[in-house]
Amino acid sequence: MVENKRLSNPLRECKWYALCPMKRFYESGQLEKHWIAEYCKGDWKGCVRYRLEEEGRPHPDWMLPDGSLDERLADL
Ligand code: SF4
Repeated sequence: MVENKRLSNPLRECKWYALCPMKRFYESGQLEKHWIAEYCKGDWKGCVRYRLEEEGRPHPDWMLPDGSLDERLADL
């Protein structure tokens, strides 16, 4: 039997998702779904927030996965 590694990969979702402000912004309708699909449930290794978390470097809640700042989210 040939194992389908893509379907059996338990690490499809970023390990920070439950705690990440992007989840909160998305669930409250303030953040477009494509951010979640492309990064949090996709290429989370490519997320700037993820890398900063791993390095223990502070970053604002309103920093998007590509590293850009969305000031609109700063007051939420
Ligand atoms: S924004 Fe980045 S760090 Fe936060 S859950 Fe998504 S991939 Fe992980």
